[in-house]
Amino acid sequence: MKLIIIGAGIAGLSAGIYGRLNGFDTEIYEMHTQPGGECTGWKRNGYYFDGCIHWLLGTKKGNSLNRVWREVGALDDTVKITHHDFFYSYEEDETRVFLYSDVESLRRHFLEISPEDRDNIDYLCRAVEALKCMEMPTRKAFDRMNGLDYIGMMIKMFPAIKYLSRLDKISVKEFAERFRSPLLQKTLTMLIPPYFKATALVSTIASMASGDAGWPEGGSLSMARRVEKKYESLGGKIFYKSRVKKIITQSGKATGILLEDGTERFADYVVSSADGHATLFDMLDGRYLDDNLKTLYSDQENYPTYTSVQVSLGVRCDLSKYPHVSYFNIPSGIDGGGKRDRYIGFRHYCFDKTLMTGEKSALTTLLNADFDWWKERYDNKELYRSEKERVAEDVKIIAQKHYPETKGKIETVDVATPMTYVRYCNAWQGSWMAWANTPSGKIRFVPGELPGLENFFLTGQWTLPPGGLPTAVVTGRWVIQRICRLEKKKFSPDN
Ligand SMILES: Cc1cc2nc3c(=O)[nH]c(=O)nc-3n(C[C@H](O)[C@H](O)[C@H](O)COP(=O)(O)OP(=O)(O)OC[C@H]3O[C@@H](n4cnc5c(N)ncnc54)[C@H](O)[C@@H]3O)c2cc1C
Repeated sequence: MKLIIIGAGIAGLSAGIYGRLNGFDTEIYEMHTQPGGECTGWKRNGYYFDGCIHWLLGTKKGNSLNRVWREVGALDDTVKITHHDFFYSYEEDETRVFLYSDVESLRRHFLEISPEDRDNIDYLCRAVEALKCMEMPTRKAFDRMNGLDYIGMMIKMFPAIKYLSRLDKISVKEFAERFRSPLLQKTLTMLIPPYFKATALVSTIASMASGDAGWPEGGSLSMARRVEKKYESLGGKIFYKSRVKKIITQSGKATGILLEDGTERFADYVVSSADGHATLFDMLDGRYLDDNLKTLYSDQENYPTYTSVQVSLGVRCDLSKYPHVSYFNIPSGIDGGGKRDRYIGFRHYCFDKTLMTGEKSALTTLLNADFDWWKERYDNKELYRSEKERVAEDVKIIAQKHYPETKGKIETVDVATPMTYVRYCNAWQGSWMAWANTPSGKIRFVPGELPGLENFFLTGQWTLPPGGLPTAVVTGRWVIQRICRLEKKKFSPDN
């Protein structure tokens, strides 16, 4: 039984691994020259710039997501995990606020900054403690769970339920605005975009507090390469530089793919882990959409996507003495292209010695950006280049102010725009996660089975909003469970 998988991102590789573990012949077709998709990083002039992981959920040994990461070879006992004491710091008028991961440290620190916020701080800390029990279900897709599975999940999540029912109804911004201190308000809106449900903020702090959100040594590209290695060690095949143009269908069944060079490939099942929009609207010409998908792809108000510009600086000095992530206030604002930010966050990676060569540090920042704004400029190469240079210059000036030792030491500058995500990952609107979970948007899953099309499955971040690496790896597993079910095979490993 043969499976064709489109895309060698984390979801595609995961599907390939579970496909092989269940005895299928698997071929992955990837348009890029390397694995990982959005889980990536790149080298420029001797500097490594990571383009993905800020925190990886599932780094705590023993939980179900960690087992999945281990099954696909992303993590093992040789991969050192860094769990930081704090997510980031925010500095304004010489006061520095830390978003600590330890709940008691967070409580003490926030109370020192704003004693008048005791009630809000207590609520935040209680909610974080309560949400520590939440784990991403990995064993079965939500639509495959039975009554008993749901009861088991509810029992496990019981301490969190009363907080979830409140936090799901308000946005991160609304939650932060309950605090009296403007400094705490700002600090709390930097972890997660302000229009997300407040649940996203509190559950992320809870993951960090329970030691489940860490940094795997070597960063994103190394992790993707470990997963690729695992897949290949199981006998899976990958074809790089193989962009899929169309999914071939016959009498309501997917039978294969047409590559951009005109070659056709056939299989018993086709799985696409490529960008959801590209799969549904380009490879399948918009022929197999249900109401759920139509809503998700058209209602940008309730289901927004997110894109950004990443500016990466290679600096010839050691920045270890600084917090690994620091945000600063920029009163005049900084323009990331069609959007203006009042804050900027810099991230360095000096804590990971495998990424440093001598006294060289990578300093990166992500700025909010407007996709259409960059797309318009992309067609005019000169204008596109000059806008990239302008953003880079603005970032360099701010970086040198806050990290004075970088003056005269910036050796390399790299700018990735929303169009970079389109070029390298075929990402719809340059998005680097799926739709945001907002208080106004009903939770919608995309099981990945399309009306009117058999033997085809969609997987990856666009099937489980808001996306992210856990979603990618877990949905890759789930898609093979679906195929095993059709083939009346027992899925393995069923833990
Ligand atoms: C800046 C940034 C920061 C992030 N931070 C985090 C984080 O801290 N934690 C976290 O969990 N997640 C984070 N993410 C999100 C995470 O990277 C993604 O959600 C995840 O990698 C998506 O994986 P995927 O396999 O579903 O899709 P993708 O990574 O998009 O993989 C799809 C693959 O399909 C290929 N493809 C597309 N079209 C075709 C075609 N026509 N033919 C052949 N191949 C095709 C693409 O090249 C790509 O390799 C971040 C992403 C970015 C960009």
